[in-house]
Amino acid sequence: MSGSPRNAPPELPSVTVRAPAKVNLLLQVGPRRDDGFHDLVTVFQAVSLHEEVTVTPAEEFTVTVEGVGGTDVRGVPLDDSNLAVRAARLLAERAGVTEAVHLHVRKEVPVAGGMAGGSADAAAALVACDALWRLRSGLDALAELGAELGSDVPFGLHGRTAVGTGRGEHLAPVLTNASFAWVFVLGEEGLSTPTVFAECDRQRASGYEPRPGRLEAVETALRSGDADALGAALSNDLQDAAFALAPGLAATIAVGRRAGALAGIVSGSGPTVALLAPSAPAARRLALDLAPVFGTERLRTATGPVPGARVLEAVSTPTPGGRS
Ligand code: ATP
Repeated sequence: MSGSPRNAPPELPSVTVRAPAKVNLLLQVGPRRDDGFHDLVTVFQAVSLHEEVTVTPAEEFTVTVEGVGGTDVRGVPLDDSNLAVRAARLLAERAGVTEAVHLHVRKEVPVAGGMAGGSADAAAALVACDALWRLRSGLDALAELGAELGSDVPFGLHGRTAVGTGRGEHLAPVLTNASFAWVFVLGEEGLSTPTVFAECDRQRASGYEPRPGRLEAVETALRSGDADALGAALSNDLQDAAFALAPGLAATIAVGRRAGALAGIVSGSGPTVALLAPSAPAARRLALDLAPVFGTERLRTATGPVPGARVLEAVSTPTPGGRS
């Protein structure tokens, strides 16, 4: 075919998508399954720390990574194992696209911090390539692809607040009008998610009795918008395992509580600690008060819930002779 049909949308040489980090308000870990995964009941909340992925047509799939706001990106692979590259390749393969892209990832989310930064990159890459290649796959189809890449990818696409079951990939939204304010204390070193799950299994070798009613308590607090009630309801079954592997984490939570946080919890598999504040101004004050202890480079304030992966910018090539 030569030329473009009349009224065709303009060519899109680059698309930028933003996707959020998550914190688990509840992380209930069931026994290890035969496939090595654990059945989870979790409540995700998307928070206002974001990744940005820009995709541009290229000869081959390549990736560059940039840290934003002091994010240390040394642990991020720059080869085909990068989750954003894997996402772009998977979508191309399934949609029969023969073009490749360069991906530029701007990371605000701590790497290996238990906040699903890599999953957010994959979610953003799926949405960006879907727009660039004009596939119009729809959120559900992208989420199904995303689940093949990682359990947290579907949530990166949907965002907001959701109950996750299975490996965390089956999502049901939780409606809440309230906004919650967080201070995140970054760990000094990353924790590997499989190592934390293995430690949890080891600790449970002598038995495990799940506490009933935890999901209901979180859902009630979210619906009422009561930050005190949410603080009381936060719980994470991986926390003791994270404490065993990174012994400073319990003290970090205690310091946060003494400085005025309503509650503190290890985020996902850690080592980031999430401190819940009574309001956004209180979160900013809390971060200021904690700065002499942890250093500003280890502190981030954020609010949640926020939306999932969204196109920020699609830059068109001006048509020669056309108006700009
Ligand atoms: P989760 O909570 O989803 O288990 P996490 O938030 O603890 O993960 P990530 O930042 O998502 O951690 O990264 C986990 C590991 O994945 C990193 O140590 C890194 O080696 C690998 N990885 C692959 N692609 C990426 C990416 N685009 N960004 C960050 N890490 C990546």
